Amino acid sequence: MKTVTTISELRAERAKLTGPVGFVPTMGYLHAGHLSLARRAREECASVVASIFVNPTQFAPTEDLASYPRDLARDSHLLEDTGVDLLWTPTPEVMYPEGFQTWVTVDEVTKVLEGASRPTHFRGVTTVVAKLFNGVQPQRAYFGQKDAQQAVVIRRMVQDLNFPIEIVVCPIVREPDGLALSSRNTYLDSAQRQAATVLSRSLNAAKDAFHAGQHDADKLRALVTEIVNAEPLADLEYISCAHPDTLQEHKGKVDRVLFSMAVRVGRTRLIDNLIV
Ligand code: AMP
Repeated sequence: MKTVTTISELRAERAKLTGPVGFVPTMGYLHAGHLSLARRAREECASVVASIFVNPTQFAPTEDLASYPRDLARDSHLLEDTGVDLLWTPTPEVMYPEGFQTWVTVDEVTKVLEGASRPTHFRGVTTVVAKLFNGVQPQRAYFGQKDAQQAVVIRRMVQDLNFPIEIVVCPIVREPDGLALSSRNTYLDSAQRQAATVLSRSLNAAKDAFHAGQHDADKLRALVTEIVNAEPLADLEYISCAHPDTLQEHKGKVDRVLFSMAVRVGRTRLIDNLIV
């Protein structure tokens, strides 16, 4: 596996790869969720490129940019073992050189859910993903369902701006007790780690209720709220019961639903979701 930092090094190494090229963008501190994307890309593409970049523009000033976990040496070994051909690790100076002032914004689908709680987040995500796409020029790019809204936003951007890239969304990888893998899980102490199962527990309860015939959006949201409120270490930020493509909040009876939620456990903000 080759590792490159600058745009010119990337271009030179990218030119040597045979297509189709699959691309896996990450912020590093890799776990089995990230590696499931790389493995899927390895199965489906002739060449695989991964990136590791903790993107400052998608963090608000109050968020965890400085403390976000990093371990490039370990990440490199994991990606190499998964069969990645090329790793791009740009620095903030490579991505945002002096004078940078061009942004990519997606409108409606970024205003709700994570976008309502984190108003500048998706502008950072779409801008950096557009730059990563322009650098790597993949035929396919792999994202996780873990960040359900991000997948919707990226699909929208790719369609609206005619990026010739197929977006592949891969299932959420979970711990045996249901907790979705996340680099931020390392912030949790053992009591918090236990409490964090409330996200998947409450989503599964909503799924079970749905399959048992409860199709009222307000009642389904109330069920999740009640379960999270019963966990003393967890604070519910939002629970959404929305259309999986438009992300518009459902009212009354529902048939296809994306349940998504953000919960604070101590100072750690966790997200999870489930489609029924
Ligand atoms: P991040 O490093 O958090 O930006 O994540 C990089 C990619 O990995 C994103 O497309 C995430 O949705 C995906 N991802 C993160 N956690 C998981 C997980 N538990 N299962 C599947 N994909 C994941």
